[in-house]
Amino acid sequence: MQHFKYDVLSTYSTKTNLLLDNSQRLVSSRYPVRVSNYYANLIKSNKDPIWKQCMPDSQELDDFDQLADPLNESFLSPVNGLIHRYPNRVVLLVSNQCPVYCRFCMRKRLVGTTESQMTEEDFRKAISYIAANPTIRDVILSGGDPLMLSDEALDRILSGIRSIEHVSIIRIGSRVPVTLPERITPELCNLLKQFHPLYINTHFNHPAEITSASGAACSMLADAGIQLGNQSVLLKNVNDDVDIMRQLMSNLLDIRVKPYYLHQMDLVRGTSHFRTSVETGLEIIKALRGHVSGLAVPHYVIDLPGGKGKVAILPDVMERDGDMLLLKTYTGETVKYQDITAVQ
Ligand SMILES: *Cc1c(COP(=O)(O)O)cnc(C)c1O
Ligand code: SF4
Repeated sequence: MQHFKYDVLSTYSTKTNLLLDNSQRLVSSRYPVRVSNYYANLIKSNKDPIWKQCMPDSQELDDFDQLADPLNESFLSPVNGLIHRYPNRVVLLVSNQCPVYCRFCMRKRLVGTTESQMTEEDFRKAISYIAANPTIRDVILSGGDPLMLSDEALDRILSGIRSIEHVSIIRIGSRVPVTLPERITPELCNLLKQFHPLYINTHFNHPAEITSASGAACSMLADAGIQLGNQSVLLKNVNDDVDIMRQLMSNLLDIRVKPYYLHQMDLVRGTSHFRTSVETGLEIIKALRGHVSGLAVPHYVIDLPGGKGKVAILPDVMERDGDMLLLKTYTGETVKYQDITAVQ
């Protein structure tokens, strides 16, 4: 069976053997390690937020409490590589490769492994499935990283999806602008802009990832008319800090990326050392709302175990006294607001 061809990776060098000690090498035999040259060059020390996101840690092997697939994605998969959780949108796992294997990845069970790659045959089945389900209007390419595929493979995939009339929008989830910005070429942008409405959600987690190179990659995509959103993951000792998050979210707007989601870490095996309490996430949202541009405030979401979907949660700002609401402002003042009686 034919896999989608990778003619991209070979042209970009990666430091897979980057100075791993014995315990890190042990981790890498369980969970693949890969760091692009570009991303490795952002590392300043072995305690910095870039290092922590990409370098293996023996704690990954200590975590047995959690499931490998808590969101039940394989159960929600009627066709290999297609996840159908919400009636009107599907996720296609078109690539299992990434320029960097993030240590906190929610699809740690799949990325970088040979057996999980979607084949051309799987893709044909996925297209038939979407074509036979007229409620599906939103197709999300994910993985792994879809932009690790060659331009030719992306062209075939996007054309296949666009040939289905009831699909209205296409989204691509990609960390390539952050971890391999040189992959965003004029040729790729010219290709992508033929498939509008096309949205890209990228994945910046720390202000140190916003560089002239990643900024330029985002500008090129934005200039191709692509709306850019950002999905961050809340990570202990990386970005679980009010000042870091204010800076990240504001700086994203400067490079034309709109913060979309802040994800509570999923309960995925091998990632527990990155997990913070939900209280921390709520404190961060409280520190953003009203204090930075409203455009810079993402939805803070928990993706519920069992594939129940994402729930957005907010700090407690409202009490009710009959029709009178008591609302807490961003400065901490409580203000009354007269509601009208709800019609039963
Ligand atoms: C997150 C997710 C989506 C998209 O959700 P939105 O809230 O529309 O961004 C779709 N399917 C699955 C399986 C998801 O995890
Ligand atoms: S880029 Fe995304 S899919 Fe790839 S390892 Fe990182 S979090 Fe996982």
